[in-house]
Amino acid sequence: MILIRTKEAMRRWSLAQKGAGKSIGFVPTMGALHEGHASLMRASAAENDVSVVSIFVNPAQFAPHEDFDAYPRTFEDDAVLSEACGMTVIYAPEMASMYPAGYATYVTVEGLSEGLCSRTRPHFFRGVATVVAKLFNTVLPDRAYFGQKDAQQCAIITRMAADLDMGVSIVEMPIVREADGLAMSSRNKYLSAEERGPALSLSRALREAEALLLSGERRVEAIDACIRGHMAPVKIDYVEIVHAETMKPLQVIDGPVLIAVAANMGRARLIDNLKFDTARHPQAAVARP
Ligand code: AMP
Repeated sequence: MILIRTKEAMRRWSLAQKGAGKSIGFVPTMGALHEGHASLMRASAAENDVSVVSIFVNPAQFAPHEDFDAYPRTFEDDAVLSEACGMTVIYAPEMASMYPAGYATYVTVEGLSEGLCSRTRPHFFRGVATVVAKLFNTVLPDRAYFGQKDAQQCAIITRMAADLDMGVSIVEMPIVREADGLAMSSRNKYLSAEERGPALSLSRALREAEALLLSGERRVEAIDACIRGHMAPVKIDYVEIVHAETMKPLQVIDGPVLIAVAANMGRARLIDNLKFDTARHPQAAVARP
């Protein structure tokens, strides 16, 4: 595995791979890698000739009051896991080269960037779309792998790649969870032993909601009430029931639905979600004894 630290060297390497007819898989991350990231890396290694994982804690997606300085940085361990998952390159660009003095260009994906996480983090998706566009322009991937854990981010990056003719396929991978159900996240490191129990209420609430949906429930208010009831132990940021592709709020649960939740538990901001497609679970068939 090679470590590349500059944009110029990264681009040169990618151009050489392309010249040799090799497909490039790409996994953008902020490091502090865990099994969620590993699942993306393994998929990339399996589906492409060569694979790049980037590690860059992107200041453009943090607000001044957020945890940019405290965000866990575990480069040595990340390198070991990346190599074990079959990565060919770790790309870890320097901050100053990503956002030099005079930097002025940002990518905004309209519509999809409204609601859910952007309500309390209005700066967030502009920062994410911008850094991912910059990374795509340097790594030149054929396929890029993202987690459903950040479902709104996935929808935004998919839209951006299509709208800006980036020629990269976006692959969404399922949420990887701890044995107790907690969605894996680099920020889980912030949870104390006492906070862990309440943090589990997010995945529990989503499981209960899924059981209701499978039993044939289609009323948004009923699902919303079920989730809020189970999330009582944490400070809810949002509970949203939206169309899985447009991210628009739904009046009735019909078609591909994303149920997304966010909450604060101590220092940690937790997110989790569930996708459900009513076309795959027709109500009549479910309701029949
Ligand atoms: P991050 O380092 O948090 O920016 O995440 C990098 C990529 O890993 C994003 O595409 C995330 O959606 C994905 N990811 C993070 N946590 C998980 C998880 N628990 N399961 C699957 N993918 C994840």
